[in-house]
Amino acid sequence: MSQPVLFAANWKMHVAPGEARSYLDRFLALDAPRVGRSVAFFPPAVSLETVASRLHDHDHLSAGAQDVHWEAKGAFTGALSVPLVRESGAAAALIGHSERRHVFGETDAETALKVAAVLAGGLQAILCVGETLTQREGGETDAVVARQLRAALAGVAPDADLVIAYEPVWAIGTGKNATPEDAAAAHAGIRVVLGEFGLPTSTRVLYGGSVNQGNVAALLAQPGIDGVLVGGASLDPDGWAAICATIRP
Ligand code: PEP
Repeated sequence: MSQPVLFAANWKMHVAPGEARSYLDRFLALDAPRVGRSVAFFPPAVSLETVASRLHDHDHLSAGAQDVHWEAKGAFTGALSVPLVRESGAAAALIGHSERRHVFGETDAETALKVAAVLAGGLQAILCVGETLTQREGGETDAVVARQLRAALAGVAPDADLVIAYEPVWAIGTGKNATPEDAAAAHAGIRVVLGEFGLPTSTRVLYGGSVNQGNVAALLAQPGIDGVLVGGASLDPDGWAAICATIRP
């Protein structure tokens, strides 16, 4: 059976616990659960427990962490481990988001350690990959994405709870999105690399980068786009509920 289409909301450094409570009251009033679709929220760490506990009784809704450290504990001021976020109610973690890579300087090697820690800790890993504008203009998209994947996928078991998010850096928060056809082509390349590691073709591959109510249906209509990872357009509960109501043809 195919896996549910995944709508993932990355709240980045927005939505404090009090705001999260009113957001979810509104979202839950609007959202109609349906078979074959799940929705995940990635709030800032201070709001994780609030969001996870509010969603606890809703099987199709979950909460996750925006990032984790690979060590389980230790002197890593400001960092969060897999056991810590798990106890706060996280079911998943984003790894290698472009802001982690390009704002905080996270390397492919660190991303690999994080994916391994997340999977070993029993959470779903959503590995984010994507090229910069310069790399795209230089015709390097497939090579960059393949390099990011290969660095993180060695040793990942075929039954691992893994999702890939293809997020071109130039499309994140810019209002420019890849065309559905370009996104689908990148997704096809991602599946080739997954195959190199014996990972199933059924592994979900999401698209992220300026997804909104106006473009989500066309993106999900492409074969191989199994969901979306959304930043800005997930911050308004009405708009996010409308995006999550999109039916994949
Ligand atoms: C993101 O943060 O992963 C993202 C895709 O942001 P936006 O939807 O705002 O481009």
